[in-house]
Amino acid sequence: MSEEKSLNFIEEIVEADLREGKYDKIITRFPPEPNGFLHIGHASSICLNFGLTEKFKGYTNLRFDDTNPVTEETMYVDAIKKDIAWLGFRWENEHFASDYFDTLYAYAVKLIEKGLAYVDDLSAEELAKQKGTPTEPGVNSPFRDRSVAENLDLFERMKAGEFADGSHTLRAKIDMAHVNMIMRDPILYRIKHAKHHRTGDKWCVYPMYDFAHGQSDAIEHVTHSVCTLEFVPHRDLYNWLIEKLEIYPSKQYEFARRNVNFTVTSKRKLLQLVNEKFVSGWDDPRMPTISGLRRRGFTPSSIRNFCERIGIAKRDNLIEYSLLEFFIREDLNKTSWRRMAVLDPIKMVITNYPEGKEELLRGENNPEVEGHDGEREIPFSRELWIEREDFMENPPKKFFRLGPGLMSRLKHAYIVRCDDFVKDAEGNVIEIHCTYFPESKSGEDTSGLKVKGTMHWVSVKHAKTAEVRLYDRLFTVEEPDREEGDFKDYINPESLVVIKKAYIEPDLANAQKQLAEHPDRRYQFIRKGYFCVDKDSTDEHLVFNRTATLKDTWAKLVG
Ligand code: ATP
Ligand code: MG
Repeated sequence: MSEEKSLNFIEEIVEADLREGKYDKIITRFPPEPNGFLHIGHASSICLNFGLTEKFKGYTNLRFDDTNPVTEETMYVDAIKKDIAWLGFRWENEHFASDYFDTLYAYAVKLIEKGLAYVDDLSAEELAKQKGTPTEPGVNSPFRDRSVAENLDLFERMKAGEFADGSHTLRAKIDMAHVNMIMRDPILYRIKHAKHHRTGDKWCVYPMYDFAHGQSDAIEHVTHSVCTLEFVPHRDLYNWLIEKLEIYPSKQYEFARRNVNFTVTSKRKLLQLVNEKFVSGWDDPRMPTISGLRRRGFTPSSIRNFCERIGIAKRDNLIEYSLLEFFIREDLNKTSWRRMAVLDPIKMVITNYPEGKEELLRGENNPEVEGHDGEREIPFSRELWIEREDFMENPPKKFFRLGPGLMSRLKHAYIVRCDDFVKDAEGNVIEIHCTYFPESKSGEDTSGLKVKGTMHWVSVKHAKTAEVRLYDRLFTVEEPDREEGDFKDYINPESLVVIKKAYIEPDLANAQKQLAEHPDRRYQFIRKGYFCVDKDSTDEHLVFNRTATLKDTWAKLVG
């Protein structure tokens, strides 16, 4: 049990239940519908459900809520399992709501026999008209008082496939004047002649969410069934059905959905981005999906720490994407290997460095850890690639990198002074000329020179190349689905910037091969951010994704 942290409100409920001896152990479940990939909002629910049973004695089931045959696919089932396992959680049992179809059907028959459910011939439109409004009661269906025998016969025939989609439904017989509109004779079963991803053509009647979820919870003896706030009005029905069916009394608790700014967290909307090719797939590194974040370079612990920090709430609220980045930076600062890469190159010639001379300099892999995680060799020579932005023809006062007459340190190497530069016919600077100071070598500097700036570089002769993909917020507004018009109108056109040819230090050329041995290896390109190897890489063509910049560049812009 966690001593150092106060409990969240659901943990408090569980703790009290255990203290009062209501349960020997607690059982929770994570119940995704396999109609898309999991996103960062789901991560919050996963951490809550699995976190509860890690903290208190018990276990968590994974249950696929696959009662809608039309939208569900096996591909999503596999992706969901991979993502939960990657986050570091183990489920006790894997279930499918569709495994319970026979039991659920028997439950429905039981309700009919008790006079608590009836077959209705009204269409969806007619049903909607009858429902009433929050202030006006609904109207009883003319089919409400069918006999038990007639209902049993009709329900059997619904199942046998005698009727067309939408022609009949099974409804609970509760109260058409109930203050909670969900209790006004809700639909329990509908006809859908569709192939199901697991049960195939066995069924043409499928239970509604409300007649599957709580019943599945009860079948599995789930003690605490945690869901999001939109299910608050469903709680009455959840309890009513459990009571009337006399099954295990699972209890429903609700917490607020977690939404992150500058993105959308709805599978339906994410699916549109995929289908309409706004992104390359569910795992596009700009997607807020677990698989997108993984490909972007996020670690499981950064996501778990993020979920832990935002905790759970009773009211909907928007979380800053920057907070997610904060946790990945915190993680990668401790673990990533430092390397040099020049993304927007300009050539520097060190005029007093002998032609043909080469040196192997050394640089630590990670100064943040003891022993620095070892070192690598970095070749140095007369011609280097440096970052274009590190030179200014007319630098302002506090510019600490290079400009005519300015001095700066080359990381792990020497101090240089800029003497001159060369322009092309259009007036663009294409080369800068420097002098280096041999006594200023890093680690053994006796030059007495003091400089404020340090720059990264790559030796021209030794440089390898890579494609580098830089990502930014997927949307230009904080809540794209709350803006006028279509949420896709707000996609950030600069959310992906591809640098086809960046220069990387030679050691990085092995990054792809090293993944086999060190699948978690991440890099900090000095001054440029945190990067990981993308799965599009081949032996000939390396691709890096920028996971995050080194500093938060957005907080100040957003204010
Ligand atoms: P979506 O709108 O993205 O499809 P959903 O709620 O329909 O979300 P499910 O697959 O039914 O997706 O969700 C599985 C579980 O995850 C549910 O218990 C749901 O309440 C929870 N969940 C989904 N989205 C969020 C979110 N943004 N924040 C917290 N929990 C969420
Ligand atoms: Mg859903």
